Amino acid sequence: MGSSMSKKETPEWGSALMNNYGTPNITIARGKGITLWDTDGRKYLDFLGGIATNILGHNHPKIVEAITEQAGTLSHISNLYSHLPGLKLASKLKELSGDDSARIFFCNSGAEANEAAIKISRLTGRKKIIATIDAFHGRTMGALTLTGQESKRLPFQPLLKGVKHVRYGDGSALKSAITGRTAMVIIEPILGEAGVITPPPGYLRRARELCDEKGVLLAFDCVQTGMGRTGSWFGFEHEDIKPDIITLAKGLGAGLPMGAVIALGNSSQLLGPGSHGSTFGGNPIISAAANAMIAEIERKNYLTLNSTKGALLRNLLSSIEGVTQVRGRGLLIGISLRDQSAKKIAQELEKRGFLVNAANDETIRLAPAFIVTEKEILLFVATFAQICEEVYRG
Ligand code: PLP
Repeated sequence: MGSSMSKKETPEWGSALMNNYGTPNITIARGKGITLWDTDGRKYLDFLGGIATNILGHNHPKIVEAITEQAGTLSHISNLYSHLPGLKLASKLKELSGDDSARIFFCNSGAEANEAAIKISRLTGRKKIIATIDAFHGRTMGALTLTGQESKRLPFQPLLKGVKHVRYGDGSALKSAITGRTAMVIIEPILGEAGVITPPPGYLRRARELCDEKGVLLAFDCVQTGMGRTGSWFGFEHEDIKPDIITLAKGLGAGLPMGAVIALGNSSQLLGPGSHGSTFGGNPIISAAANAMIAEIERKNYLTLNSTKGALLRNLLSSIEGVTQVRGRGLLIGISLRDQSAKKIAQELEKRGFLVNAANDETIRLAPAFIVTEKEILLFVATFAQICEEVYRG
């Protein structure tokens, strides 16, 4: 299907696709930088970045070049052989983890990365897992069991046995739940899907201490916070600790499907030959894209820039009428509203050419690409303020 196809020629969503997402009201034709155009030629500034995925925006020349070159060289070979882009990416992720014991497993999505984490935890010989209420870890059966949202889990029971959910951000609840039979505790450094909820300072560190006391693996699901979005590579470094397992996806593939598990210490040795695998995991084209993306993040110093741009966004947004709190770190931001207007405001923004997401009735989530400029941020904030003025004063 060519991107030049007009809306009239496009088949109706409902006649061809399942209804699991509902019916989107825009069909996107192309993108450049943080700008997207729909099939009617309407232009949008993308402040959601494919939900924290298009880290360098759309059609970034460095990514296009890497993909094109790799597609013309080697696109797939199975896991019976190794390839240079995959080896390079694995050693780079190891370097970013800052731990020589780190070993990488590649897969294709966040849910798959968490499935792999579950399997690694089973190989400790212990069977129980602790996750947190409201967390999102994916929708495959194992990852769904970890997801702390009953509405998503209930229709698909029975799920995995032995998974308990405790209150997010609550060290005491975690302490009471962990036992000598717990294999793994899994935590999002910031709850993303639940509305960009940052835990109290010290929570991740407390989790590390509690896991150490009982010999439990600590996994951080960095699928949404990862690859520099929050101003550090994975999103937990500000607590100056290391988990045993880091799961990644979303931004890792620079807009192409890739997931990974970084396992540190003893947990890096638990998967042996035949214990796990993925046909496409670590695919050469996506590895080449990821390598190019990481190089660009380093070259442009985006980790520091993301902190600055995030602070600017948070400061400007927090003084707008109707906004009760602005949460998050770097370029992962949740705007809390004083009532349930999030969907209405997101729709209004869309009408005026800005894409965001209503994470829930009270929260708007932003996750723009790292290339977003100050001018684009100011434009967004001005439009957001105008809409809030109409909604809350009008
Ligand atoms: N973990 C977190 C923290 C996520 O935000 C998501 C997706 O939003 C997932 C896991 C699942 O990732 P995927 O949709 O790639 O399976």
